[in-house]
Amino acid sequence: MLLEVKGLCVNYGRIEAIRDISFTVEEGEIVTLIGANGAGKTTTMKTVSGLRPVRAGSVVFNGQDITHLPSHERPVLGISQSPEGRGCFVGMTVMENLDMGTYARPDRKSKAVKDDLERVFELFPRLKERSNQAAGSMSGGEQQMLAMGRALMAKPKLLLLDEPSMGLAPKLIQQIFDIVTEINSQGTTVLLVEQNAAQALKRSHRAYILETGEIVREGTGKDLADDPAVKAAYLGGD
Ligand code: ATP
Repeated sequence: MLLEVKGLCVNYGRIEAIRDISFTVEEGEIVTLIGANGAGKTTTMKTVSGLRPVRAGSVVFNGQDITHLPSHERPVLGISQSPEGRGCFVGMTVMENLDMGTYARPDRKSKAVKDDLERVFELFPRLKERSNQAAGSMSGGEQQMLAMGRALMAKPKLLLLDEPSMGLAPKLIQQIFDIVTEINSQGTTVLLVEQNAAQALKRSHRAYILETGEIVREGTGKDLADDPAVKAAYLGGD
């Protein structure tokens, strides 16, 4: 098991954002968290990356209890997040952003990093073309690619992708999902949060459905996509 989340509870003050949620991600999987606005998806991601403290429960990564490990130490273990809303360093160039992704790598000056940069440029040719452009002047879709590229430069075992398709044109959404599938087939395990449930379920090995801070269903991507209740609630009924 690469990631095991058990009995997780997270609050914002008195608001219980997530209550007693448990889920797992096995090495090699794409696992998706689906849910309506405010269901607790981003909070769950932030807890795995260490940006939100845990009130109760545990997070175990690769056999190590990381429940209270500071966020900046998690990339060293192999957890990297591409945050919701992109979170690029807007005043830095594309290249500088990608370089920031490598800060936790012990091999950051090695050839392996150059190879990974080539791999990122293969996945996102636009980033290569624009490597000297300020991230803040890139389009929304391009910044999304940059956030994913930067997360990949950490060479993560587990890539956390929070709403990678948000705000993108339909053609680009398809492309982003293709890239997520490609990243996974190259050996990176993916935990994905998506509003675009139909696409996400199609691409996922397994998925969990969150409703108001609790997991209410889990199953394979296909089972959930075929389930009439899931269809009605999350897939527009078709
Ligand atoms: P969305 O799809 O809209 O991004 P989500 O499923 O990612 O939603 P979260 O952002 O995790 O949901 O929010 C879960 C709950 O926690 C919501 O009720 C939200 O209002 C609350 N919440 C999130 N961030 C904060 C915050 N900084 N302060 C107070 N409450 C918060």
